[in-house]
Amino acid sequence: MEMKKNDIYEAEIIDYTNEGSGICKINGIAVFVPAVAAGDKARIRIVKTAKNYAFGKLEELLEPSPDRVCSDCEIFVRCGGCSFRHISYASELAFKRKFVADALTRIGGADSSLIGEIVGADTPDHYRNKAQLPITLDSDGKVRVGFFAPRSHRVIPLDTCQLQAEVFNDAIGVFLDWANRMNLPPYDEQTHSGILRHLYLRYAFRTNELMVCVVANAHELRKEKQLVQMLTEKLPALKTVVLNTNTEKTNVITGKQCRTLYGDGYITDELCGLRFRISPLSFYQVNRDQAERLYTLASELAGLKGNETLLDLYCGTGTIGLSMAHKVGKLIGVEIIPQAIEDARRNAAENGITNAEFICADAAEAAIRLHQRGLHPDCVILDPPRKGCDSALIETVVRMSPQRIVYVSCNAATLARDIKLFAENGYSLQQAIPVDMFPRTNHVECVVCIQRK
Ligand code: SAH
Repeated sequence: MEMKKNDIYEAEIIDYTNEGSGICKINGIAVFVPAVAAGDKARIRIVKTAKNYAFGKLEELLEPSPDRVCSDCEIFVRCGGCSFRHISYASELAFKRKFVADALTRIGGADSSLIGEIVGADTPDHYRNKAQLPITLDSDGKVRVGFFAPRSHRVIPLDTCQLQAEVFNDAIGVFLDWANRMNLPPYDEQTHSGILRHLYLRYAFRTNELMVCVVANAHELRKEKQLVQMLTEKLPALKTVVLNTNTEKTNVITGKQCRTLYGDGYITDELCGLRFRISPLSFYQVNRDQAERLYTLASELAGLKGNETLLDLYCGTGTIGLSMAHKVGKLIGVEIIPQAIEDARRNAAENGITNAEFICADAAEAAIRLHQRGLHPDCVILDPPRKGCDSALIETVVRMSPQRIVYVSCNAATLARDIKLFAENGYSLQQAIPVDMFPRTNHVECVVCIQRK
């Protein structure tokens, strides 16, 4: 019998997709259902059908999964930020580990005994050190901040968020108090009018420094002095206030121009014993504590002894390589974004690191040139975006014949594909360790060590 929209079936949720939706099988077809738990027995309403799969929604929960917990957020699911507020953190970690293990064994041909335990966070809440909140008017005409609903530009207003630093909740309150008192209109994407676009917050957990950045469709705000005064009075951690101007018709959040209204225009955090400057436009890992664990693991897997040459490809602002610089003879970082390379060079200088060189280029092209110049790194770090490494890059790395490759990945499927390619070229997987950098979301990171046979 063919499945139609609005049909209702009883089914048991058996697994999750990589986006965190539940999966059940109805008439042999996979049906994807958001915000259900593996182990739930439920009545599912079909909302959309395709040839080999369908989408459903929870109609009635008949028997809850033992993994279930009560969600502690009013806008869970609607805001799209979290995938797993309705199951225990332990079961979320178990799913994430299994997800990585399945990809590495099925796609990558890895031996399952090489996949270690997942490194979970001490606490899955209040870890985000960065929030970019669109500003809107609610139905009562009050200025609010929120998050865009998934795949839309409709703002879901919020007062607090369980993922972000607790100090952000206070900062939101003070900012909204100011915005509502001063009668500054939120920006309207449709008409390209209004002033306040985003409230952009960053926090350095280790040093307790807070940055408040207002992204505005203006070069000046009518009552900026009052804003600074209210923020400094109410927020002891406040270190700097910045106005970022974005007058473009774009969904890119920040513009290029920043003006400091208070403090130095940046905050400083500590990671792996190094100090990193964080300005509105610079990249910094959003979960500091887990980033430190990830980098520490990467360093252990690299097994450095003190005089090696280390090549850090896709280095961003240099953090991974710099955290290992004291253990190597020479560090070379490669990254395609010029601003990130500038930050990497400054990060090296400010931490007194003199054995690092940073190159702004495409990783594959830079690797080819470095190889032609006769570079033979002892160890290569790879930390590519979700699409993984180019096959040309992998070929070049193989030709450089490093003893070890440490690959940090945010996408287990492309990691598995690349591990397989390395295996076909004389490099075998030694160890893979999943790391939960983003608790409560569907993302999972993994660090692996690949060694020359
Ligand atoms: N290793 C860094 C950042 C990793 S994110 C850290 O741990 O913080 C991946 C980085 O790869 C991004 O900074 C992105 O700008 C960069 N990138 C993307 N495509 C690239 C390419 N073709 N060549 C070099 N770098 C690239």
